[in-house]
Formats: sequence, structure tokens, C-alpha cells
Amino acid sequence: MMKLKPLPYDYEDLEPIISKEAMIEHHLKHHQGYVDKFNQTLKSYPSLLDSVGGLYALLASPKYIPQEIKDKVIDFGGGVYTHNLFWDSISPVNTEPYFKGFFKADVDKTFGSIYDLKKELIEVGKSHFGSGWVWLVITKENKLRVMSLDNQQTPLMRGHFPLLCIDLWEHAYYLDFKSERATFLNAIMSKVNWANVQYRYELFNAL
Ligand code: MN
Repeated sequence: MMKLKPLPYDYEDLEPIISKEAMIEHHLKHHQGYVDKFNQTLKSYPSLLDSVGGLYALLASPKYIPQEIKDKVIDFGGGVYTHNLFWDSISPVNTEPYFKGFFKADVDKTFGSIYDLKKELIEVGKSHFGSGWVWLVITKENKLRVMSLDNQQTPLMRGHFPLLCIDLWEHAYYLDFKSERATFLNAIMSKVNWANVQYRYELFNAL
């Protein structure tokens, strides 16, 4: 059984970009909904998650997912994973001082600067058709890359390691920004948790 991961801050801490109301709705309704549906999906395979080594391993190794629950694992297990990472991808405090070291060098080389990386996240997120997520990943070729994926698909099953993700589903911004996804993306760029991105980058490179 999976449990809803608590937020690493209070519901009102991302205001005014994400209102307390929107945060409560997103975490306690949408994220909780994915947890519940995922647990329901795993009912007939109670030892599957432990046998493969947890949610990350399960999503990264689709061949271990029984065919009859594969779509649901990708939708609901994916939905648990994406939201867990999303809460860690944003922060109420300014974390830009943590943008440094090998990660900064890699960003500068790949995108030009942190500004260009943010621009690309906004552009790719804005252009994505329908529901999904925009990601910063380390590809299996060991390159930084921005990509968007549909619905609750994760880069894990394609062999990429995610550093951050931003929710593009309307429920992520509709209460605060109505249909203005681009405005939401612009605003949320000031709240990216670069300390966590940096940590994940180092984690990957320490493997
Ligand atoms: Mn969401």
C-alpha cells in the first residue's frame, strides 16, 4: 500500500502563485486520488511493488508490470510519482543560490544559462497539447534535456532520470490562473527548487 506523501511545506506557502485552496485541492483530492486508485490497481498483485523494489523501479521496468494492469499502473502509479516529484520541484524559498557547480556548468553548456533553461521549460510546457507534464531529465545518453509527456507518463520508462517536473494539467493552475497556462509557467519558474534539482543531479552522477 502506498500512502500520500505529505507536502514538504504548508498549503499556503506557495501563495500568491499557488493559492492555499488550489494546493489543498491538488494534494488532498488529485494526488490522493492517484494514491487510492493505484492501491486499488495493486489489490490483485499485493507483493508486486516490493518485489521489484518500489514505485520508481516499477515505472522504470514496464516489462515487470502484468499486462492486465499495465495502463492503470502507468496512469495511477505514474500520477503518484509525478506529484511526489512535483512537490519537491518547487519551494517557497529562493533556492537559486543552489544553482552552482557541475550542474550549473552542464546547464550553461546545454542551454546557455539558467534563464534559457527556464525559457525552454516555459516554451515546451506552453506548447504541450492537452494534459501532461514538462520535465528536465538526464537522458540515457547522459545529456540534460527538457521534454513534455502526455498524461501521467514518466521519463522513467524511456530510461531517463528526472530532475524536475511541472504539472501541465488544468487542475494545477485553473483555480489561480484560469486557462492561462503560460502565465502559470512563468510565475512558477521563480519557485523552482534548484536545491533539490542539484541534489538529484549529484545523486545521479554518484551512481
Ligand atoms: Mn496534478
